[in-house]
Amino acid sequence: MSTRFKSILIISDIEGSSCCWNYRASSFMTKAWRRACVGMTQDVNQVVKGLFDAGVEHIIVKDFHRTGYNIIPERIDPRAQVISGYRLGPVPGMGDLKDAEAIMFLGMHAASGTEGFLAHTLTSRISRLEVNGKPMPEVEFFSASLAPHGLRPIFFSGCPVACHQAQEAIRMINVYPIDKTTGSQDFDADSWQAGLVTAAVESLNNLSTEPYTPAGPFNAVITMRDGELTAQKISRRWGFRHQGTRIFIDTDDIHQLYRDLIRLCYLTPLIEKMIPYWLLLYDLWGRIGLAWVRRGVKRNF
Ligand SMILES: [Zn+2]
Repeated sequence: MSTRFKSILIISDIEGSSCCWNYRASSFMTKAWRRACVGMTQDVNQVVKGLFDAGVEHIIVKDFHRTGYNIIPERIDPRAQVISGYRLGPVPGMGDLKDAEAIMFLGMHAASGTEGFLAHTLTSRISRLEVNGKPMPEVEFFSASLAPHGLRPIFFSGCPVACHQAQEAIRMINVYPIDKTTGSQDFDADSWQAGLVTAAVESLNNLSTEPYTPAGPFNAVITMRDGELTAQKISRRWGFRHQGTRIFIDTDDIHQLYRDLIRLCYLTPLIEKMIPYWLLLYDLWGRIGLAWVRRGVKRNF
């Protein structure tokens, strides 16, 4: 089978993967998370194998949940390159993506303040994130951050609400949902994974999407879950406007908006100044978590 895309970036999250069924399973160092890491790894590996079988030549897998250390790299087909943890640039968090042509999003979730499974945007500390009056899911920020490098978003998997939001933003993107309303007992992971692989491979022929570059201006309203004091502290820290529990960010450029939101969600001005050192520490934290996952996996799986 000949395909259009030969080099794929997979961005992988845990909430919409096959063994994450509650908030604990997305939380660092819980037993449920360990199981979810195994499921996420299997989902990704099945897709990786399917893509290579279909003629893809190069695959980068970027682990993009929490510490960035959830996928067990040695359980991924060695032909793929797994990037754990976070890199400073050239693309925020992702590092150098070399010749990747298209993006596939696996295990994703819906935007903050919407009905989807474990819905959030960047952090669960935000209870609602609206840009120009509409909830904005992560797929838009991640796709936009990769657009200057020419990457086209072609495939998305997550809960049905998340899939719908992805299609609203990126109209011709292929999607494959995971329904989490029934609970894990009635879920057939093997047949779901087989469907995921088929859908991902089909999306290699999706020539309809373009690199995602939404036009500004952008007026973001961010509602903080922890209340007014938190909103006040964060907005003073970064010079954002705020009112009650809401913080306002106005930019002309999606990249600036994404940078400001990364600051708001994850950083302080001090941490930003020391970011290479802070990333090393964060990386260490992630590696400790993954070592713990590996120990449990040896015993239980
Ligand atoms: Zn996540």
